[in-house]
Amino acid sequence: MIQKDEILEILKSVLYPKTDSDILSRGTLKEFTAEGDRIAVDLEFRDAEPGMKWVIEGRCKKAIRDRFPDARIEVNVDIVPPDGPRESTRTSRGPDRLQRDLLPGVRNPIAVASGKGGVGKSTVAVNLACALAASGKKTGLFDSDIYGPNIPRMLGIEGRLPEAVDGKIAPIETDGLRVMSLGLIARPDQAVIWRGPMVSKAIERMLADARWGDLDYLVSDLPPGTGDAQLTLSQRLTLAGAVMVTTPQGVSQSDVRRGIVMFRNVGVPILGLIENMAYYTCPECGTKEEIFPGRGVEEMARDFSIDLLGKIPIDPRISASGDSGRPVVLTDPEGEIGMAFRDIARSVIRLTAVSGQTSGSPAREP
Ligand code: ADP
Repeated sequence: MIQKDEILEILKSVLYPKTDSDILSRGTLKEFTAEGDRIAVDLEFRDAEPGMKWVIEGRCKKAIRDRFPDARIEVNVDIVPPDGPRESTRTSRGPDRLQRDLLPGVRNPIAVASGKGGVGKSTVAVNLACALAASGKKTGLFDSDIYGPNIPRMLGIEGRLPEAVDGKIAPIETDGLRVMSLGLIARPDQAVIWRGPMVSKAIERMLADARWGDLDYLVSDLPPGTGDAQLTLSQRLTLAGAVMVTTPQGVSQSDVRRGIVMFRNVGVPILGLIENMAYYTCPECGTKEEIFPGRGVEEMARDFSIDLLGKIPIDPRISASGDSGRPVVLTDPEGEIGMAFRDIARSVIRLTAVSGQTSGSPAREP
């Protein structure tokens, strides 16, 4: 049985970032649990830089693992403002409470999800968020795809470092969006080693640490699949709904069906389906060609009684925009693709208004 004294001794060997003092001289061990092979440690620090939370957590885990290599180790670090109310990322709270704590000013958190990777989910999230912002809605974009945080590149903000303001991280503001991504705050090679519970914690903390302010919509780009990240967002936030992205291919559709079932099981409304790479229009003759086999997306929408919000063509301008950092909805809002995304944004606004989560902001036509 591991004793509290042993843990205290280990924690005393961990240095507080950028100092020569140990973390316990700067903070407090609030809770300690050792049950079977599980060691859980809950630390609290007053008035620390928010980013320090992750560094302290990593250092503590490493120190404990060096001593107890086979243990399942959970370290929770809370940063508390000197006088203000306690801000916690504890996972034991109910969803409503957590949303109020984490995102007090966000009216409609929306998830953009897909069954499998590479179907254009991030592309849809970026363009949808831009279309919502262009319609006058205060919009944030949260890149929770921590295995492949591509949003900074897609918006041309790679390498910009978010600043700490009043104990929180200020999302990067670009094109009328407030953007937060692991890609902005971590080394690219860090993300891929995170698994299971670490994914959930990382997502919660990024959400909690960001100063989103007052938002009509927070569009979250989820990692593909039905794993921890999807469940974390569904359970920790009261999502106004999920937008599902699929290609016409059968394999993408069967994965997305599983995603729909998962969201429904945890009580998240599905706002609708988006069929990406639905067709190709020949630039020479204007003929529409359906490149991928499979015509089941309409059928799926019917099966689940959900809307098909839009069809996005395969277009080299979309892949080019991913690298140039300028989403098509901004560079060509009146073109076929720009119009399709603006239609989708209009539907999202209509559907979230129906669910009673309308904002006070005046809307322009998306
Ligand atoms: P996911 O988030 O599902 O992994 P991405 O949005 O990152 O997918 O898209 C994967 C790749 O496909 C990117 O290079 C992107 O630019 C490209 N892409 C996405 N949608 C289209 C499209 N409709 N036409 C052409 N290329 C696209």
